[in-house]
Amino acid sequence: MSKKHGKHHRGQKHDDGVTESADLNGSNRLSPPRWAGVIAGNAPTMPGGHASVSVRAAPGIVTVEPGAPFDLQAVDPRTDNGLDKDWTKDALAKERARIDALQERLYAERARSLLLVFQAIDTGGKDGTIRSVLKGVNPQGCAVTSFKVPSTDERDHDFLWRYHARTPARGMIGVFNRSHYEDVLVVRVKGLVPDAVWQSRYGQINDFERLLTESGTTILKFFLHISKAEQKKRLEARIADPEKHWKFDPADLVERKSWDDYQQAFGDALTRCSTPDAPWLVVPADHKWFRNYVIARTVADTLEAMDPRFPEAPQGIADLTVPD
Ligand code: AMP
Ligand code: MG
Repeated sequence: MSKKHGKHHRGQKHDDGVTESADLNGSNRLSPPRWAGVIAGNAPTMPGGHASVSVRAAPGIVTVEPGAPFDLQAVDPRTDNGLDKDWTKDALAKERARIDALQERLYAERARSLLLVFQAIDTGGKDGTIRSVLKGVNPQGCAVTSFKVPSTDERDHDFLWRYHARTPARGMIGVFNRSHYEDVLVVRVKGLVPDAVWQSRYGQINDFERLLTESGTTILKFFLHISKAEQKKRLEARIADPEKHWKFDPADLVERKSWDDYQQAFGDALTRCSTPDAPWLVVPADHKWFRNYVIARTVADTLEAMDPRFPEAPQGIADLTVPD
């Protein structure tokens, strides 16, 4: 709730002075923090002074109940929840327009942020979802990061370091294409660290996400759930279509052999890291049109629940005239 608080949230990189990139990333050292509009209202307030915002999952998405046992295999990836494909075309356009309008308010308010986390098995649809759901959003208010195999520099730090550096600044929508969850998924399945190391990460992830939410970041975590048969179809399409060859990674065929291990690792991550403020949302994702619509609606509804407001106008603005 102070300059110090804001500085901390944006990371240490810009602490040496005001730089151009610090400004672009949402730093505003000259004006006071704009918490007033955030704290107003009757919503419960968290330690960081921010109102707690409930995630609003669209019908058809399965929210993993915090603390309860959860069986990923019980969720049918092929379901469309009775929606009509043609109907969702217009409906998706409407959700995109809502996201665009609400994003402008979030940006103008410059007090809180939204983080969208996408996890899925290879070919699960992360790229396609990001492209579809965020179509039309002002690129300046949005920052997408695709996390790959960590660099030497990244591996020389704690596992959360590289993710924390990319969390959204105030006013921004941040998108994680893969995320800190890779460190309990691929890392576990491939045995890249000792068991005790990845096992301790679930709690560390929960603490990290709590820090973010208490600092004014609402987190939406989407797990795109596809069937093994659908993955086969998508891999075959990438092999058959020359325009999709660039997307085909022969390593995906190797990873497919570990399908069951990945499902187990996904199931454990979803169960152990679903919390009241940052629950996991399982999206049946065999049907791309269904996936895109329910995710867009969830983003729009959650932004609406955040209720971002334009900042108060400077006093006397209505009386000003612009000289010739
Ligand atoms: P893609 O998303 O298809 O471009 O591939 C990125 C690759 O990076 C995938 O094979 C991931 O499993 C891998 N990857 C992402 N994060 C990590 C991580 N923390 N440790 C190891 N591999 C990772
Ligand atoms: Mg890949």
